[in-house]
Amino acid sequence: MIDYEKLAKYSAPVPRYTSYPTAPEFREDWTQRDFIDCVNRSNKNGAAISLYFHLPFCRSACYFCGCNVIYTSKEELKDRYVDYMSREIAIVSKTLDTKREVRQIHFGGGTPTFFSAAQLARIIGLIKNAFPNISQNVEFGVEIDPRFFSIEQMDVFAKNGVNRISFGAQDFSPQVQEAVHRIQPFSITQNAVQIARDRGVKSVNVDLIYGLPYQSENSFKETLKLTLELKPDRIALFNYAHVPWLKKTMRKIDETTIPSAAEKLKMFQSAAEIFGAGGFEMIGMDHFAKPNDELSVALKEGKLRRNFQGYTTHNECDLFGFGVTSISEGADFYSQNFRDLNDYEKAIDEGKAPIFRGAQLSDDDRLRKRIIFSLMGSFALDFAAIEAEFGIDFEKRFAPDLEALKPLEADGLLSIANRRVAVSETGRLLIRNIAMHFDEYLKKTAVSDRRFSKSV
Ligand code: SF4
Repeated sequence: MIDYEKLAKYSAPVPRYTSYPTAPEFREDWTQRDFIDCVNRSNKNGAAISLYFHLPFCRSACYFCGCNVIYTSKEELKDRYVDYMSREIAIVSKTLDTKREVRQIHFGGGTPTFFSAAQLARIIGLIKNAFPNISQNVEFGVEIDPRFFSIEQMDVFAKNGVNRISFGAQDFSPQVQEAVHRIQPFSITQNAVQIARDRGVKSVNVDLIYGLPYQSENSFKETLKLTLELKPDRIALFNYAHVPWLKKTMRKIDETTIPSAAEKLKMFQSAAEIFGAGGFEMIGMDHFAKPNDELSVALKEGKLRRNFQGYTTHNECDLFGFGVTSISEGADFYSQNFRDLNDYEKAIDEGKAPIFRGAQLSDDDRLRKRIIFSLMGSFALDFAAIEAEFGIDFEKRFAPDLEALKPLEADGLLSIANRRVAVSETGRLLIRNIAMHFDEYLKKTAVSDRRFSKSV
């Protein structure tokens, strides 16, 4: 029996580790030269590439949303945005070797389907023109708000090889939906999934969130059961990150209605049980997939990695992001675009890559990134494998960090034996709390200055 009250003490502001170093550590004196040097090094290693396109517009605010979103009803903004993204691709292509193989394309937002079918076709056309070597087996994913999704848009996706669709659902309770300002009856989601299935989409993901206002263990069980009725291939179950100091719309949420850390842990445990009974395996800290899904296979083979979109099986790729706020990632760098639309457009008008911050990874950063991502991706840490890769004596180098894990071991979150850290089932729920012990930057940040969401 898991003691949730005991585990609730781990509820603390901890990074989500979609990158290491985490975004607050990126340098704001990051220059065009830094970016160009990184892209040139990436060209030299010649890895295949992933492409990410941030389509930031939404018609209205969902109060839980932590994404970088521009709320608008102005249609003309969208054509203008595509024009700028086209110019951004042209600028970056002066340095990036666009003949490298593209193995992954992802549209995120915002609401990508806020763009019309014709605008989406235009964006895909731009990508195909700029990147002539798109793999036959490209994984092409789109995030979709079922409330804004038409057959015409799906026809464009199907015609152009979109094979993964992720539907935002969050919670099917009318009370929760009203509290978060997102009314989306189950039938709308059901219909959207059917549209995708009818056009042969092979992978359907449903996004849920636990920790929203008015959710309880019992009410959430209903949402979990309805989710299984949609017959998804994958389910993402995100922990609601309440960060009202960063996102103004979150201030509209009545904090007294947010479930406690212990309740949230119980909700997650219910999900693990109900989805487990439904034939899903837990992948990473917040995903579920069928045993034959690529994510499950990658987890078993120790190849699962975390990135900005969650978990990926394409760790071999360098990632290049386009559009406001998007992040590019290579073996030894991160580079992020401006978050403000005016700044983004101004840089492009000046013929520059619209970047505003980034990080050049030191040897220590690369080592710690490998360790943190190994824990986040495979829930284990093999000392000998790290030693072989980085030429270090693991126990000597990380003696204080291993010591700091002892109380977590005593609480049953992990075990340290045979030169290996193995995370327990319970520890998976608190994987961020485990990974943080290897974060060198966090150690230098006073607890009061940690502006991250709570781990539980
Ligand atoms: S959850 Fe999706 S639709 Fe809602 S505001 Fe965020 S990006 Fe827009």
